Amino acid sequence: MEYVKSKIRDVYDFPKAGVIFRDLTTMFKDPRAMHIVGWDLAQLYRAKGVTKVVGIESRGFIGGSILAYEIGAGFVPARKPGKLPADTVSAKFEKEYGFDEIEIHRDAITPDDVVVIHDDLLATGGTMAACYELVKKMNPRKVYINFIVELSALNGRENLPADAEVTSLIVY
Ligand code: IMP
Repeated sequence: MEYVKSKIRDVYDFPKAGVIFRDLTTMFKDPRAMHIVGWDLAQLYRAKGVTKVVGIESRGFIGGSILAYEIGAGFVPARKPGKLPADTVSAKFEKEYGFDEIEIHRDAITPDDVVVIHDDLLATGGTMAACYELVKKMNPRKVYINFIVELSALNGRENLPADAEVTSLIVY
């Protein structure tokens, strides 16, 4: 995992002064790093009977799709408002850099599903907490939470439900 971490670029003062943005695009473009991430994500969930991976727009689509493919699960996009064409459920939340809203198709998850919600990075946890609540409303059998990167200094795990099973590949 040190190799993967070495491919993540630190961008200073983005999107505002004082913030160090962990830029995963430099990791995604590296074939070896992508291979390791795909394999390691799959190892975490291969034996858990997962039927759907929910990926959070937009960088969560990348790892989420790879994970779904590797473990033979379906992929469900959690999107910004107004992007999904059919009937949706939505939740508003506060972000590190302002307010936002997330939507999922109402019929995307069913009670027989075992779900992993995946995003590229855990900062304050607001995005994932909102998405977790949305998915829970659909009463799946089980919901797991996964990130590639966790920024532990922001204590994002404290904003996630206490009973949620959370994994991350890389912790800063
Ligand atoms: P949270 O809701 O504060 O946990 O923010 C997480 C969301 O913001 C994720 O969807 C990330 O893609 C994005 N994000 C926040 N900080 C960073 C960063 O340093 N690098 C990459 N994405 C970030």
